[in-house]
Amino acid sequence: MDAPSEHDAQAAFPRLFQRGPDGTDYRLVSRKGVEVQNLGGRRFILIDPASVARLAEEAFADISHLLRPGHLAQLRSILDDPEASPNDRLVARELLKNAVIASARQFPSCQDTGTAIVVAKKGQEVLVDGDLHDALCQGIARTWETRNLRFSQMAPVTMFEEQNTGNNLPAQIEIEAVDGDALEFLFIAKGGGSANKTFLFQETRRVLEPERLLAFLDEKIRTLGTAACPPYHLALVIGGLSAEQTLKTVKLASTRELDGLPTSGDASGRAFRDVEMERKVLDLTRNLGIGAQFGGKYFCHDVRVIRLPRHGGSLPIGMGVSCSADRQAKGRIDAEGVWLERLETDPARFLPEADFTSATPTVIDLDQPMDAIRAALSKLPVAAPILLNGTLIVARDLVHAELSKRLAAGEGLPAYMKDHPIYYAGPAKTPEGFASGSFGPTTAARMDAYVAEFQAAGGSLVTVAKGNRARDVVRACKVHGGFYLGSIGGAAAVLGRDVIDSVEVLDFAEFGMEAVWRIRVRDFPAFVVIDDKGGDFFAA
Ligand code: SF4
Repeated sequence: MDAPSEHDAQAAFPRLFQRGPDGTDYRLVSRKGVEVQNLGGRRFILIDPASVARLAEEAFADISHLLRPGHLAQLRSILDDPEASPNDRLVARELLKNAVIASARQFPSCQDTGTAIVVAKKGQEVLVDGDLHDALCQGIARTWETRNLRFSQMAPVTMFEEQNTGNNLPAQIEIEAVDGDALEFLFIAKGGGSANKTFLFQETRRVLEPERLLAFLDEKIRTLGTAACPPYHLALVIGGLSAEQTLKTVKLASTRELDGLPTSGDASGRAFRDVEMERKVLDLTRNLGIGAQFGGKYFCHDVRVIRLPRHGGSLPIGMGVSCSADRQAKGRIDAEGVWLERLETDPARFLPEADFTSATPTVIDLDQPMDAIRAALSKLPVAAPILLNGTLIVARDLVHAELSKRLAAGEGLPAYMKDHPIYYAGPAKTPEGFASGSFGPTTAARMDAYVAEFQAAGGSLVTVAKGNRARDVVRACKVHGGFYLGSIGGAAAVLGRDVIDSVEVLDFAEFGMEAVWRIRVRDFPAFVVIDDKGGDFFAA
C-alpha cells in the first residue's frame, strides 16, 4: 500500500505524489509462494517468482475480458441520462453488450489486446527469490499464448525491417524501490489507438491564466477525435519536473491511480488534483458535440487534471486517455498472500433489458452492386445509424501499401476492392467453435493517403472503420461518390460473436492478421460519417 499521506506530507522532504491509502477491492489469488522470514533480526517477505508469474498471468487475462465496476456504471449512466443523444445511448449499449460477451472469457473485449505494461513498487522489506522481471514476462507470455489475444509487438530487425515477436513481449516493465513490506503492481494493457492519443505540449507561463488555460485545453482536446474509441477517461497534467514525468503522470492519472492525491497545492511543490478544473473541462467536453463517437454529450466519462511543480522556465502539459478498453488492474503481494483487483464478472447487471436507445438504424444490403449500395447510402444524412448485411472485404495497412505500389506500376486494383465495401480491421484469434475472433475496426486515418488514388481507380468507394479522416478523404468521396462509415470502436467482441458469420482469407495470406479477408456480416452497426456530398460528421 502507498505510504499514508500524513507520512508523505510530514517527511523531512515531503513526497511529490502523496497518494493516500489504497482503497482497492482485492480478491485473493493465492496464499502460496509467500513466506515471512527473519534475517539478521529484520523481518522480510520472501516471494517465490512463480507467484509473481501467476499474478501477472491472471491480471492480464482478467483485464483482457473484464472491466472495473465503476467504468461499467458510467456506461450505464449514459443509458439513464435523458440528455444523452440517441447515438450516445446506442454506443453505450453496444459497449455494455460487448462487456457481457467478453466476460465469458472467450472473446477479448477488443481485438487490439494491447502492449503489456507493468508499474511495480517493491518495498525494501521484500525479497524476490529470483528475477522479478523474468517472472513478469513469463506470466505475460503465458496469457497471450494461451488465450484468444493478438500479438502486437514488432521487433525492429533492422532500421526498416520488422517482425512480430509472436508472444506479445517485450513488455514495458518499470520497478521502483519504495518503503514497506509489500510488492505492488499496476497492470495495464494499452492498445495502439489509445496510446497514439498521448500528447506533450511544451508551453510557457502565459498559458497559466484561467481563461487562456481553458481555451488551450479546448483546442487540444478537440484534436483527440474518436480514433481511440470514446467515451474517454481523459487525463491532463499541467507542469512536471521533466517531460517524461509529465507523460508518466498522464498515464497513471488515466488509470485513476492518482485519484487519492490532495486536492490543493502547497509550498512544498506536491502534486494535486484540481477538481474544479476537472469539472470545467468535463463540461467543455460535453459541449463539443462529438459525444460517444457519433454525436452527443459523452465524449468523456470523466476528467482528471493533475497540477505538478515545474522549472520556472518550462511548462510541460500532457494529455492522454484511457479508451473504451479501459484495461488496468492493481495487484499486490504481501505477508497475507497474492492479491488482484476484483473486476466485474457480471457486467450484465449494468445492461437494462429494455432497449431504449431510440436510434432507428437503416438496413443496408451489401450484396447488391456497389452502385446500388451507394445509392442507398446517398439518401441518408450524416450521423445516420445503419445496419450492414452481406459481404465486407477486410484490408488494412500492409495491403494498402502493396496495392498502391501495384497501382503505381500500372496494374489495376483487384475486383474485390471495387465490388465491396472495405473494412479496415484485423482480427484477434478465433475461439474454438466460433466463426471469428474479436474483430473491431482500426483507425481509419492510417489509410487516408490511399483513398483518393484507390477511388480514382474504382476501389474503396465505401470504407468502414473508426475515427475521423483527413479533408482529402472528404474531397475524394465528393468527387468519386464515395462514403466513409464509422463502426463503433471498442465493441469488437460483439462483432466477433454475434455479427460476423464467416471469415476467409482472400488474398495476401502471407500478411497473417493483416491479410485480405472476406467476411459475411449480419446487422453490423455503423454510422454515416462522410457522404458523397462533402458532408463530414467531424467537420459539422
Ligand atoms: S477500444 Fe479502441 S482505442 Fe481502445 S484498444 Fe480497442 S481499438 Fe484501441
